[in-house]
Amino acid sequence: MSEMRFDVIVVGGGHAGCEAAAASARLGAQTALVTMSRENLGVMSCNPAIGGLGKGHLVREIDALDGIMGRLADAAGIQFRVLNRRKGPAVRGPRAQIDRSLYKQAMGRELCDASPGLSIVEGEVADLVTNGKAITGIELADGRVLKAGAVVITTGTFLRGLIHIGEDTAVAGRMGEAPSIKLAHRLKTAGFAMSRLKTGTPPRLDGATLDWASLEQQDGDQPPEAFSMLTTSIETPQVSCFITRTTAQTHDIIRNNMARAPVFSGQIDGRGPRYCPSIEDKVVRFGDREGHQIFLEPESLNDNTIYPNGISTSLPRDVQTAVVQSIPGLERARILQFGYAIEYDFIDPRELYPTYETKRFSGLFLAGQINGTTGYEEAAAQGLVAGLNAARHAGCLEPVIFSRTESYIGVLADDLVTRGVTEPYRMFTSRSEFRLALRADNADQRLTARGIKLGLVGEKRMNVFTAKLDGIREAQDLMTGLFVTPSRAQQHGIQLNLDGQHRSALQILGYSTVTREHVHQLWPELHKIPDRIMEAVEINAKYAVYLDRQSEDVERLKRDESIDLSIFDISGYDSLGGLSNEIRVKLNTIRPRSIGQARLIEGMTPAALGLLAAHVRKAIRTGLEA
Ligand code: FAD
Repeated sequence: MSEMRFDVIVVGGGHAGCEAAAASARLGAQTALVTMSRENLGVMSCNPAIGGLGKGHLVREIDALDGIMGRLADAAGIQFRVLNRRKGPAVRGPRAQIDRSLYKQAMGRELCDASPGLSIVEGEVADLVTNGKAITGIELADGRVLKAGAVVITTGTFLRGLIHIGEDTAVAGRMGEAPSIKLAHRLKTAGFAMSRLKTGTPPRLDGATLDWASLEQQDGDQPPEAFSMLTTSIETPQVSCFITRTTAQTHDIIRNNMARAPVFSGQIDGRGPRYCPSIEDKVVRFGDREGHQIFLEPESLNDNTIYPNGISTSLPRDVQTAVVQSIPGLERARILQFGYAIEYDFIDPRELYPTYETKRFSGLFLAGQINGTTGYEEAAAQGLVAGLNAARHAGCLEPVIFSRTESYIGVLADDLVTRGVTEPYRMFTSRSEFRLALRADNADQRLTARGIKLGLVGEKRMNVFTAKLDGIREAQDLMTGLFVTPSRAQQHGIQLNLDGQHRSALQILGYSTVTREHVHQLWPELHKIPDRIMEAVEINAKYAVYLDRQSEDVERLKRDESIDLSIFDISGYDSLGGLSNEIRVKLNTIRPRSIGQARLIEGMTPAALGLLAAHVRKAIRTGLEA
């Protein structure tokens, strides 16, 4: 049998694998992406959308490091919306509905035609080739051997995948694709700590059979806001989504068939994503709600398939039909593909370093759903870091770690490798204690310079980034030299302390009540600064004061790590206000000894840690005073 040699081999052509292979190739490593089917590079297994709260931040960070997900989403996006637009920039999440087939085509072009040094190899990886504790390659099911200095495994939901629809089960990696059984056994026998998780997807509907006129319409933003700093305009035609709700009848149908629901009948062992529950989960957990919202999302410009976001299910087919047809607007809906749940093996991410290299085998990296995460964006973010580090490993360079202080990419890696997961992990802005600094709008200002130093960023982006930074600097310099008195500011509707102090244009733009329009009225010459530069200057100025406060908080939090929580030994956490139920239950069960230990609890938030620390400090103060 032939033997091929590469610097890096990436196993899997999903979102982690594609980003890993692209990153490795950008660094100049000879890279092979091995996947079961070349046709299926970049397939979106579930919802036709990219981005959202926390996830949109990840996409912008991937883009800032010259990754591919943001650019391809811009090329295939058919409806763009910035979520939380009315809230502060730190929690705004760019999101887009994606045309599945356009995304797949764009991914194919990117990896097959536009990535020199990257080869696509079709086949099933069945075995790892090792030399003691070092990985040296992989073996395909047909006997071919590929050798490399580093291997990245990104097999998603395929390891011993098992699909459930009602009482029916089938082995599969996802609907219509074979699972990966041999590789799962190989990883198990190598000693990796493995367990089962599950996720699910809703039935797909024929758009021609929906009563659109009766439904609430939801349009995208106009103009659409792109993910990538390289995208100058969105060229794809834009479409609307529609909204409906489940009814009391829907809930009755589900309750009457609960015994046939694999998630409740004992048929499924794996734990599912609490933040993305199935409709049967929602009816059990939030039974008193009158209805649950469903977004009807088009999957493509060129076919009529509709993705009903909100009714993921593994109920039997006849029940799915009854459920769908009990929903307003869907009374005559035809189901094109039934919803299903899938259980799969994942590897405990505490087996990994924050580079995603395994502790068991040098040069072996894992990224994506195999590490217990869920979502395309989480997978891609891990893929980028793993691909970067695999290429560096193959080139005998030092590993690169992203810290939680600079990126959600760092938060993701740190959370996974220190806390592990007990359910599919997805990103939220609340997972970051630094979220005022880690905004989607400043991902490039946080990461691109580092990407350039690492050799990850190409010339085009380097030029665009440098021009933007120069623009921001020039604008800030100009505005630092323009002054206004409080009385003149008042004439333009800006209320300042009448203290006679002159303030600079940059200073007053930092005030929450001052808008860009105010500043333009006072200094018309600032109109020459391009809008996107002025927007960046404004957000940076408005956040400067919070960032100072945040760094103090961060310092305090570090000091608080050793605070003793034995004060809660007797009382427990029930009477401490401000904690979510989820965190309260975990604290009561785990009873951490210190804030440092509490920080390691999965799902723990910086805000909850702050509450605990404040409570203990207050108790000590009161005790001392008493
Ligand atoms: P995948 O995208 O699954 O890609 C795995 C790749 O590995 C494929 O290309 C496959 O061919 C390849 N492969 C596997 N084994 C081998 C092998 N032995 N040899 C060669 N190639 C191999 N995410 C959400 O955010 N929300 C949801 O509600 C949600 N629901 C989901 C429902 C279902 C039914 C499924 C299947 C997934 C769902 N997801 C959801 C998850 C989302 O699809 C994944 O998180 C994301 O695709 C993971 O990316 P990945 O790159 O890790 O793996």
